[in-house]
Amino acid sequence: MANSSSISTPSRPLPYGRQHITDADVAAVVAALHADYLTQGPTVGKFEKHFAEYIGAKYAVAVSNGTAALHLCALALNVQPGQSVITTPLTFSASANCVRYCGGEVHFADIDPATGLIDLQKVRALLEAHPKGYFTGLIPVDFAGLAVNLEEARRLADDFGLWIIEDACHAPGGFFIDSQGREQRCGNGYFADLAIFSFHPVKHIATGEGGMITTNSEQLFHHLLRLRTHGITRDPADLVREPDGGWYMEMQELGYNYRLPDFNCALGLSQLARADEGLARRRQLAARYDAAFAPMPGVTVLAPATPGHAYHLYVIQVERRRELYDFLKTKQIFAQVHYIPVHRMPYYEALGWRAGDFPLVENYYAHCLSIPMFPTLTDAEQDYVVACIREFVEAPHAR
Ligand SMILES: *Cc1c(COP(=O)(O)O)cnc(C)c1O
Repeated sequence: MANSSSISTPSRPLPYGRQHITDADVAAVVAALHADYLTQGPTVGKFEKHFAEYIGAKYAVAVSNGTAALHLCALALNVQPGQSVITTPLTFSASANCVRYCGGEVHFADIDPATGLIDLQKVRALLEAHPKGYFTGLIPVDFAGLAVNLEEARRLADDFGLWIIEDACHAPGGFFIDSQGREQRCGNGYFADLAIFSFHPVKHIATGEGGMITTNSEQLFHHLLRLRTHGITRDPADLVREPDGGWYMEMQELGYNYRLPDFNCALGLSQLARADEGLARRRQLAARYDAAFAPMPGVTVLAPATPGHAYHLYVIQVERRRELYDFLKTKQIFAQVHYIPVHRMPYYEALGWRAGDFPLVENYYAHCLSIPMFPTLTDAEQDYVVACIREFVEAPHAR
């Protein structure tokens, strides 16, 4: 890594994450706009098919965003008032909110501070402390791009009769190594019932707004397709009444309009073609950060050099986090904090959760900072980020 005297100030502000739109992406969207269908055209199914292949799942359902994906999953798994579901407090609120949309109760298990992932031992303890049947599901999150060990989660889920929704928004292309030594890709549906992804611009693949559900269950797949479009079906095999004309369709249950338009899918498809390239660059950047921070006192890297890490986020932990956040801002580096623990949100506190309930995630929150990590970040820009952080940690405390 270059020393600070040779570091130049970048010509653009550096956020923690940003999209990468190429001329090919633009051309793909323009072509979709000139085609016959603005909303549900042929690109939707094509994007779903290619995405399922990329992830290694049998089925994929494109939806309007990651939150809609979570909502549809909770509906398809029949979350009901009075049921309880376990998730991690270290996630975007949407991972928990989908249970609330269906009237269910959310419980949390604290994190493993070495990884930021939900601690499955704590999940087991929580399950054992309640009567069997009290909990119906588990929503683990591949936090920052690090894959949850879903083989272990599945064992736990089977012992207690739970379904699993894997929130894989941070981890397309990520994987963990199972007990047989096989790479298990995030969202491949091998252990989890359903997995969800987001195509918000800060995620690996951008469609504007957008999301995807993947599964290996044909039954859940068909149900999700119907729920995505008002609960309506036209499939002759599914109709409960005799059609009285070519227009005939049935609304069989209360669904939503959570469809993803054709031109968004065109953007997603074009982005998907470069997904491995972007992932490789993220891993390269992570290795460079790891090397720069290893000898830097006062900076701890969350889960350095873990195989299969998809690096949606690159997280460091420091003592004076608030000061570092403000200092970086003066340097045009816009770091972010992921996340304020879900149970500390006023909405969840009103449901009875309190500060101190999950001390490990609360301690993590006090020190974490997500620094720039996106495929178009250049080596020179990254060197500048490292130099600014070094300047901060080496400066006398008074700043
Ligand atoms: C982004 C994200 C979501 C929500 O996705 P949207 O497309 O923004 O609705 C849910 N869970 C996690 C972990 C996320 O990062």
